[in-house]
Amino acid sequence: MPARLALALAILETLLWARRIRPLRQPSATAAAASHPSPFDALPPRRAGAGRATPDHKVPFRIAAIRQRLFPPHWGALPARTRVAAGAGAAIGGLSRLLGRGGGSVVGGRATLAIDPHALRHLALGHAVVLVSGTNGKTTTTSLLRAGLSTTGPVVTNLLGANLPAGVAAALAAGPPGAPAALEVDEAWLKTVADDTAPEVVVLLNLSRDQLDRNNEVRRLSSAWRSALADRPGTTVVANADDPLVVWGAAAAAEVVWVGAGQPWTADASGCPKCGSRIAFDAAGWACSSCDLCRPALDVNIEDGQVVSIDGWSVSLDMALPGRCNQANAALALTAAVRLGADPGRAMGAMASTEEVVGRYRTVDAGAVDARLLLSKNPAGWLEVFDMLAPPPAPVVVAINARIADGMDPSWLWDVPFELLAGRQVVATGERSADLAVRLHYAEIEHTRVPDLIVAIREAGHYAAGLEQQGSGAHGRRRPTIDVVANYTPFQELRSRLGRR
Ligand SMILES: [Zn+2]
Repeated sequence: MPARLALALAILETLLWARRIRPLRQPSATAAAASHPSPFDALPPRRAGAGRATPDHKVPFRIAAIRQRLFPPHWGALPARTRVAAGAGAAIGGLSRLLGRGGGSVVGGRATLAIDPHALRHLALGHAVVLVSGTNGKTTTTSLLRAGLSTTGPVVTNLLGANLPAGVAAALAAGPPGAPAALEVDEAWLKTVADDTAPEVVVLLNLSRDQLDRNNEVRRLSSAWRSALADRPGTTVVANADDPLVVWGAAAAAEVVWVGAGQPWTADASGCPKCGSRIAFDAAGWACSSCDLCRPALDVNIEDGQVVSIDGWSVSLDMALPGRCNQANAALALTAAVRLGADPGRAMGAMASTEEVVGRYRTVDAGAVDARLLLSKNPAGWLEVFDMLAPPPAPVVVAINARIADGMDPSWLWDVPFELLAGRQVVATGERSADLAVRLHYAEIEHTRVPDLIVAIREAGHYAAGLEQQGSGAHGRRRPTIDVVANYTPFQELRSRLGRR
């Protein structure tokens, strides 16, 4: 059946070509670079007026181009089943994009793995793979790592967040042969993907409760990382030494580069992952009160705005991305990039110029005001976002949904220290704005509730204008910028509704 499916898709693509249906292009250069080429992309241009009357000698040429997209020459070394699987995945992914059903990498990758369950293992051969995992910062760190590695040549990546095995397989199938691969991996799938891709480097960022109906037991994830990284002599782990759960998971690896990346959120690591006793945190680090688990000696640290390595290199952390957490993400990404041969200075220069990551941190036109889009999905992420907001009394819009992609249980709102928003007006929005409003009420934060996202931003604009009239606004700017923090699905809705203005 899968082979028939692949054949049917190939026929369908040829028919679509004959009907002169042109490919849909990705909206931005970033997205295009991160996406997987469609069999329709970059086909030779048709002559004006050719239509169905295209001379016959042109047809084989275009079919050959489609065939080259479906079965690139560098797949010649792959087993036949993997070639068919990857070709079918590329076709299905291309059709998905053509039909406007998303990036196509997930559905295409699923088809690839359905046809050949071992495809990921074969597709990863020849690539120097870096896996990036953790609760928060995966996409940003992978983006920074891709930027750093791009100073050495082409890079394979799954930047659009397709971080399960299907997305990883699609990224590897689409990437240039032999290029290093910077791949984001869901924290619960690290062992599966590591077993198949045999990574040279694994970057571990942090662990905290995320979606309460999915990744809520973080000590179990830490133990799973431990078993994923044990008995893997060819893999170097680049790990955040300031998160006890990361340290316990990483310490089983044969070689670890410990990075002092910081972890302000400590509520999920108060119990020792090794013995269950209490972890004590202080300014110097952390240590278990009973066993020998403690913060390891650092190999790379952030000191006075610089990333400093005990190997003798140091570079300035002059990032376009805001916030403490992005300095941490950059330090970890840079350490991995250097491990793969990148020059620290050049890699940092490429990372420093990254201004947005798949819409995050982007400032967009929202009508009478500009809106800066920030993504935050869990209490640990929220603590980092507070660090990025314009200072009080600037208003802020907070958008919360509780769909499957967000986690169906929004009770995590009660773990977020919304008290830190004191001194500013908050506009609560999204499908669960009522839950948020109750939380803000008990945090004694001034707030209004406006369910529609765009109307909420407009409402915050009125507050900003009022501040301006009182002389306490945003430095005399006529057009205020409103910080909008959203969890996953309202963030995507905002990107969709505001992205094309
Ligand atoms: Zn202990």
